[in-house]
Amino acid sequence: MITRRIWIMTLFPEFFKPLLDCGVAGQALRGERAESIKFDVRLVNVRDWGMGNYKAVDDTPYGGGPGMVMRADVLASAFQEGVMIPGGYTDKSQLTVIYTGPRGTPWNNQVARAFGEQTLTDKDIVFICGRYEGIDERFLTHYVNLTFSLGDYVLTGGELAVMTMLDSSVRFVPGILGNKSSANEDSFEDGLLECPQYTKPREFEGESVPEVLANGNHAKIKEWQQQQKDLTTKTLRPDLWQKRR
Ligand code: SAH
Repeated sequence: MITRRIWIMTLFPEFFKPLLDCGVAGQALRGERAESIKFDVRLVNVRDWGMGNYKAVDDTPYGGGPGMVMRADVLASAFQEGVMIPGGYTDKSQLTVIYTGPRGTPWNNQVARAFGEQTLTDKDIVFICGRYEGIDERFLTHYVNLTFSLGDYVLTGGELAVMTMLDSSVRFVPGILGNKSSANEDSFEDGLLECPQYTKPREFEGESVPEVLANGNHAKIKEWQQQQKDLTTKTLRPDLWQKRR
């Protein structure tokens, strides 16, 4: 059993409470679904290293322009005193430092799988959550190893991106999902969307569950499910259908 620490440097630690408190991802991140690996999430409030009476973490951008930029020196102090020292690390190469932003590697299921299977298990992780107009470039080049983007839009901060990344990758950490096959059957695993699903009651507002699902012929069920996956993907995501394996 190994323990993996996940450090999150943020101005809003309270953002992470619902993720850590609820559901299967919360259990995993609280270290309660461990088989071979136990997670230990540590929230580091960057504000604690802010400067002056107002605990400033940001300043106006060189060259002018709107908004504020997070200071590299404040982030470096928070990294040193909030992560390196309490974590007992002697060199930052012992950690994988991750930033999120529009310029990062686009996050998708394949990236999430690799992240859950490897990145989350290899080394302890530090997430840096940006705010305002972002972070001084020098902190990024000196400290950050990987950058991921959630999509082509601009969030007001990195917190939701980090939570989305953790939620969507922790399912792939070996031994975390109770039903091991379930991650493999979800959407995107074979490049397709999932097929429609049904449960009781058999009849709902005049519509019955498709006959084939209720008659217990497993070969027929598999065939129907594959047809539905193809149809759903073709109709709703022609781009995925084009790229399918
Ligand atoms: N000025 C920046 C945006 C800053 S938004 C730009 O134009 O690119 C503030 C913070 O939100 C960023 O530091 C980043 O950590 C986060 N963020 C914004 N959009 C994101 C996205 N698409 N994916 C992941 N993180 C994002």
